[in-house]
Amino acid sequence: MSSFKKREELVEEGFQRLEARGISRRTFIKLCAMTAAAFGLEVQLGPKMAEAAAENIGKKPLVWMQGQGCTGCSESLLSSFEPGPAEIILDMLSVRFHPTIMAASGEGAISAWKEAIEQGGYLLVLEGSIPTADPRFCMVEGRPLLDQFREAARKAEVVVAAGSCASYGGIPRAGKTGAVGAADVLEGQTVINLPSCPVKPTRLLGTVLYYLSFGEAPPLDEYNRPVPYYKRYLQHDSCPRRGHYERGEFLRDWNDPETVDWCLYYKGCKGPYTYTDCPRIWWNDGVNYCIRAGSPCAGCTQPEFYDQFTPLYAKQENFPNPGIAGLSPASLAKGIAGLTAVGVASHAVAKAVKNKSGGGEE
Ligand code: SF4
Ligand code: SF4
Repeated sequence: MSSFKKREELVEEGFQRLEARGISRRTFIKLCAMTAAAFGLEVQLGPKMAEAAAENIGKKPLVWMQGQGCTGCSESLLSSFEPGPAEIILDMLSVRFHPTIMAASGEGAISAWKEAIEQGGYLLVLEGSIPTADPRFCMVEGRPLLDQFREAARKAEVVVAAGSCASYGGIPRAGKTGAVGAADVLEGQTVINLPSCPVKPTRLLGTVLYYLSFGEAPPLDEYNRPVPYYKRYLQHDSCPRRGHYERGEFLRDWNDPETVDWCLYYKGCKGPYTYTDCPRIWWNDGVNYCIRAGSPCAGCTQPEFYDQFTPLYAKQENFPNPGIAGLSPASLAKGIAGLTAVGVASHAVAKAVKNKSGGGEE
């Protein structure tokens, strides 16, 4: 049998597996075309991507490990619409270990983990942060997670940090455990960071599809985030409340129905410093997202989240406000500032925050 035929068979098998789970070939090709478009590739690459991904579906092992977290990332993935990211990632890939959803427990589960690690060549996903102050803060089967994770990462094809905790320490970093993200405990290994609290299922799916299709990580920004989902968009630039910001219309009283749609900057919105596609790709299959639902952006896709972004629901006095570039919300209200000026101000704020935290995002 020629290798071409073998590949054809694998592709066909992959499509059949998808169809058995209610994901038609057409839907899958569309999904891949959308992923291609998101990554700035030709949409026509969709069918080719779909074939490449289908070829790998079912045979690519997945090992999912969990550190200090709330299981929200798994919950987010499992709550996605059907057929959706959960089906494709958790059912279609060969999930060898996932502490939350696997049927095995105790020694059986640990044996599955050991077997998968021995064989290598898997996608390794980390959910939750890793304690470094004392590795005993997170023990799995009598061993520090830190050791287990490093061991697993050595034989992984690619490491994906799902969510803010796994990427940069997230909320646990505000505590005493010395919580850090995956990349902080690995050396010489690329980690694809997918921060947000929880991980956005579509980003995880797109990244996995990209990896299955091209066999490599997508283009990453300086914080190891896929450029198309993060660096390309400043929240503030596409915000539905942006017009109010420019007119100096800020919500100051949650109970005032007149200002319910106004800019949330004075309620702690981190939109001017946050790179994310949230205003474009809404959560839960396009149902809604934070700012549109009335909540200020908490900046959960940024390395500063959460400890350097508090308080979440009040303007942070330790952050420069948009007046940093010579503009104040009041002057904006008088119509002095146009779009360019606002962009400069936002950019200056973002830069100031990055400098404060030692980052270098421009
Ligand atoms: S500060 Fe927040 S709510 Fe206001 S326009 Fe910017 S992103 Fe939108
Ligand atoms: S809008 Fe802000 S807080 Fe909400 S998910 Fe997006 S980046 Fe996170």
